Amino acid sequence: MQRIPLIDYVGRPLLACVFLALLWLQWRFPLRRRHFSVLHRLVRNFVLSIPGFAIVRLAMLPIPLAVATWAQDRHIGLLNWVALPGWGVCVATFLLMDYAYWWWHWANHMVPLFWRFHNVHHTDLDMDVSTAARFHFGEIFFSLGFLSLAVLVFGIAPMLLLVFFITFEAETLFHHSNWRLPIQLERVLNLIIVTPRMHGIHHSIVQRETNSNWGTIFCWWDKLHRTLRRDVPQDAVTIGVAAYRDENELTLGRLFVLPFRKQREWRLPSGEEPDRAPQPAQKLAAGPEKLTIEWLQVGEYEVIDAEPAGPGKKKPKEDDQIKHLGKIEEFGEPAERRCRFDISDCDGRNRHNHYAPEHGARNGRQCAENEKQAEDKFNRRNKQSIELGKRNTRRHQSFAHLFTALRHKEFATPGKKKQRTNC
Ligand SMILES: [Zn+2]
Repeated sequence: MQRIPLIDYVGRPLLACVFLALLWLQWRFPLRRRHFSVLHRLVRNFVLSIPGFAIVRLAMLPIPLAVATWAQDRHIGLLNWVALPGWGVCVATFLLMDYAYWWWHWANHMVPLFWRFHNVHHTDLDMDVSTAARFHFGEIFFSLGFLSLAVLVFGIAPMLLLVFFITFEAETLFHHSNWRLPIQLERVLNLIIVTPRMHGIHHSIVQRETNSNWGTIFCWWDKLHRTLRRDVPQDAVTIGVAAYRDENELTLGRLFVLPFRKQREWRLPSGEEPDRAPQPAQKLAAGPEKLTIEWLQVGEYEVIDAEPAGPGKKKPKEDDQIKHLGKIEEFGEPAERRCRFDISDCDGRNRHNHYAPEHGARNGRQCAENEKQAEDKFNRRNKQSIELGKRNTRRHQSFAHLFTALRHKEFATPGKKKQRTNC
């Protein structure tokens, strides 16, 4: 195997450190409640990813790298034809490649053949940093062809390809992690990059929500295509694919053969199709300022099908703004809010969920107690990050004003028609 110094001596150790750091952060500050054993999932996701890792190192890096060198030597590809300064080539490489990956991720959901393989990634019943490695080797094999083609068409320089690859992988680890970032920090990051809350919605069992947030590094492509959703709080998201709710059906052997079996419809085992209406637009459409304030007030909600206000709508008073902004510290994620799609766990061996009643609780009372204990544990873990958030409220309010200005700009286009939903 030929050595690739930037990957072998820099990229791999760096990604290993990012993985371990995120593992610790998600344990210390969890975002969504876990429902299944972390150790089980870590081992399962890791073993499942071994053939994929091998393909990446033996083929997915060397082949596109050889294509990049070949294209550069023969002056082939978009960036080899356009005269750009060095920094311009770097920026263009990241934008073009990440946008191409947005389309690739879209194709993985929309093309039935590709979905068979990508489905394996989505069947994880909890999502954390280990989910970032849970890819069927078939999907990696297909993406090898896609990456080589993109490198050839765009004329990506070999060195930049490697830098992009390392960044891409680090961002993939980050947005799959179950790390509860302070909401104000996440909002700022989510002006540019894909964040854990945003990607969490992409892993929802509600199909409309899964078919959104396809970005990997930058969140702008979803904005561009109106597929960005931030209107679901994390404690209302149930992770997974509706038709695959039973842990016993997702063992290693079954996951390896899943793409070659008959695919199930997007329905729960009960036959029900999980759904959740997008947040009501009318309520928030009283005016661009009002829309902005509501978005901030309710934490993670953002209405993407909101109708911007027409002229003559009442502007909120300054007092109202302060009142609304003061509520941000609540994070919009009250622990008591329960979701009908939630999976409730009992103890380590006796899990049940609402959609696999055959694995029901042995004893209702015991289950309720365990549920309460799990909730308390989760809340204790979060206390520190919530208090940190409260201390930062003042700083956050200045961010909030920045957001107000930005959102105002975005939604204040006069005469703009109702934006369509992403689904
Ligand atoms: Zn996906």
